[in-house]
Amino acid sequence: MSAPAPTVAALARGLAEGAFSSVELTRAYLERIAAAQPSLNAFITVTGESALKAAAEADAARAAGRAGRLTGVPIGHKDIFCTEGVLTTCGSKMLGNFVSPYDATIVSALRAAGTVMLGKLNMDEFAMGSSNETSHFGPVRNPWDTQMVPGGSSGGSAASVAARIVPAATATDTGGSIRQPAALCGVTGIKPTYGRCSRYGMIAFASSLDQAGLITVSAEDAALLLGPMSGFDPRDSTSVDSPVPDYTATLGDSLQGLTIGLVREFFDKGLDAACEQRIRDAIAVYEKLGAKVREVSCPNLPLSVPTYYVVAPAECSSNLARFDGVRFGHRCDSPKNLLDLYCRSRGEGFGAEVKRRIMTGTYVLSAGYYDAYYLKAQRVRQLISADFARAFKECDLLFGPTTPTPAFRIGAKCDDPITMYLNDIYTIGANLAGLPGMSIPCGFVDGLPIGLQIVGPHFSEARMLNVAHRYQQETDWHLKTPSAFA
Ligand code: GLN
Repeated sequence: MSAPAPTVAALARGLAEGAFSSVELTRAYLERIAAAQPSLNAFITVTGESALKAAAEADAARAAGRAGRLTGVPIGHKDIFCTEGVLTTCGSKMLGNFVSPYDATIVSALRAAGTVMLGKLNMDEFAMGSSNETSHFGPVRNPWDTQMVPGGSSGGSAASVAARIVPAATATDTGGSIRQPAALCGVTGIKPTYGRCSRYGMIAFASSLDQAGLITVSAEDAALLLGPMSGFDPRDSTSVDSPVPDYTATLGDSLQGLTIGLVREFFDKGLDAACEQRIRDAIAVYEKLGAKVREVSCPNLPLSVPTYYVVAPAECSSNLARFDGVRFGHRCDSPKNLLDLYCRSRGEGFGAEVKRRIMTGTYVLSAGYYDAYYLKAQRVRQLISADFARAFKECDLLFGPTTPTPAFRIGAKCDDPITMYLNDIYTIGANLAGLPGMSIPCGFVDGLPIGLQIVGPHFSEARMLNVAHRYQQETDWHLKTPSAFA
């Protein structure tokens, strides 16, 4: 069999036409993963044996006439999703030996849709990071230049899709962790509306912001996979009970009359001039497709990073309290007493960034500081949501850059958390407001990919995918493959 075709859509067609079997396809991907692992470190666990078994079952289902659209298509899962009988680490030493007794809802849903799991993808520890350097299992490298970060926290998902060692991957986005790595690796990322996909079995970071989504080669692939992942789940109290459309049905819709809002605050002085030019070029493509462009303002958006770094640590300090060495997580050797057990287990199990967040979060929630920090941040969060709501009265979708710069060097920002946090300056707003967001490849600067960000009103995923797909019919940035992995 020749090298695997790049998109889920093409692979699904090949499987349906009998050009190759799922076992052949899965084996080809497992070979690509093994070859790339030393240079990328994108996987924490490769589940080769069970993948081949699932692939054989998919082939049998197809032979029996029971194949769906995705039957036999291999994918990877971010290691934040619980997978029954498989190591689920969340990138942390704390869960370094945790074999989940159950599947996350989206994992079982994608399995029921026929996909074959190739393994679990590397990520920043507990999804806290923008460069995949906080992983206990070592940094992931950017396939476009292995000296560069892939972004984070879904760095393993983005790097593996970019290197074509998986056709598509699940990911999560609390403050940008799907869109930012997708941008830095030149792939398509979608963070759906908060509540669109179940959080059950997705290890919690900041529960009011966490959202599962996808990293894929194309918007069409994201449309194929998002349907089965979406929908109400009684086991997640914030999952939303609203109908799930067939996201592929509207991909070809015309963009005539679409009003694009350019968010003034996204084009600030922190935005690299060459990156800005790529974004402006992409917008010109949309104008050719019939879209109208106007500038809008979200004046409170510049407050999103400080707001997020109060809300997210507060929620994480609460969520991560369960990892105490008793019920969950790493346990230290021969503790002297209960306090020693807690202190040393948590001290040994968590990395520096996670500890920083837990300490910040505990501080902002403590008596005396709660009103000054946490409550204030929640108020600003409302103002940011209101800014977006106002903007969507004037336009259908908001456009801007996903990141201020292309990928940076591994190690470059490790000693400066604030500079690292500013990577998500354009993505965090959508999380604070619960809005869906995408990043699509729109060009290169110095050989590194750049992402165009699209933010829509709640539950506008179908429109966003349509808008991304039409651009990908006009351009081929999303099909570019790093030469080392071509
Ligand atoms: N980079 C952001 C952080 O470190 C966002 C992470 C995420 O979306 N999971 O918190």
